[in-house]
Amino acid sequence: MKYASFSTSSSDAIRLGAVRGDRLVDVTALMHGGPFAQASGTLLDLIIAGYEAWTAVAVEVESTGASAPGHALADVTWHAPIPRPRKNIACLGLNYSAHISETAAALRKDAKVPTMPVIFTKAPTTVNGPFSDIVVDRGATSEVDWEVELGVVIGRTGKNIHAARAYDYVFGYTVLNDVTARDLQKGHVQFYKGKSLDGFCPMGPVVVTADEFGDPQQKRLTCRVNGVVKQDGTTANMIFSVTSIIEWLSKGLTIEAGDLIATGTPDGVGMGRTPPECLQNGDVLETEVEGIGLLRNTIVG
Ligand code: MG
Repeated sequence: MKYASFSTSSSDAIRLGAVRGDRLVDVTALMHGGPFAQASGTLLDLIIAGYEAWTAVAVEVESTGASAPGHALADVTWHAPIPRPRKNIACLGLNYSAHISETAAALRKDAKVPTMPVIFTKAPTTVNGPFSDIVVDRGATSEVDWEVELGVVIGRTGKNIHAARAYDYVFGYTVLNDVTARDLQKGHVQFYKGKSLDGFCPMGPVVVTADEFGDPQQKRLTCRVNGVVKQDGTTANMIFSVTSIIEWLSKGLTIEAGDLIATGTPDGVGMGRTPPECLQNGDVLETEVEGIGLLRNTIVG
């Protein structure tokens, strides 16, 4: 199933949708009045409601077909699948060796492959829509960079999860761009501030459920600026895989249904290019993960 969060010209309320061909089924309307109505208000509601609700909704969406309430894909406003996560997004730094090399060269440091994952976070207020403008506060930063990443949506609460069981805790996958203010990232030493400016995490356009997505370690990741390919990698090159990340992150730390993980970026970021590049006002940023879809965001000053 491919789930989305949308609103319409007649209502600003964000609803749960499911993509069926060129239509977006209005799951909130479809499930209204039934036993899973509360579980179908938003995507976060559905994730938290658990496996029984996931199955009930999937069965209902698949069985109603063309008679289901819904809209043409082009007729809705698309929001991030989880527009306001309940906590910070957990992010992997330096999870692709070619990105470690380009980062080390840019900072004139030795390239070191981490033996434990580098984990930082982005504020929930960074989350932005898949086709929304990224409004950059130019009084705060002049060095805005791109990072295409596979996002993991946790489906089940747990702690001390062994890698061999980690997929049991995944609801699905999404596309995100870990947009970064490099000047703030370097200046403040800790990553949080440079990673957390408002709107710096465009996400979506859908969450593909784990059963439909298949192996998350065999997916192509691409990032384009004004149509020019800047990043073209594969999740096969992650140093810490999705299951390893969940094992490390959940050691002594509860991860909960609805939590988001950004799994790191391949090489080709602006900071690592010769000469270095930054996003300028008016630039169109496209971020894509195979099997999920494409984000298209314009940089606005
Ligand atoms: Mg990143």
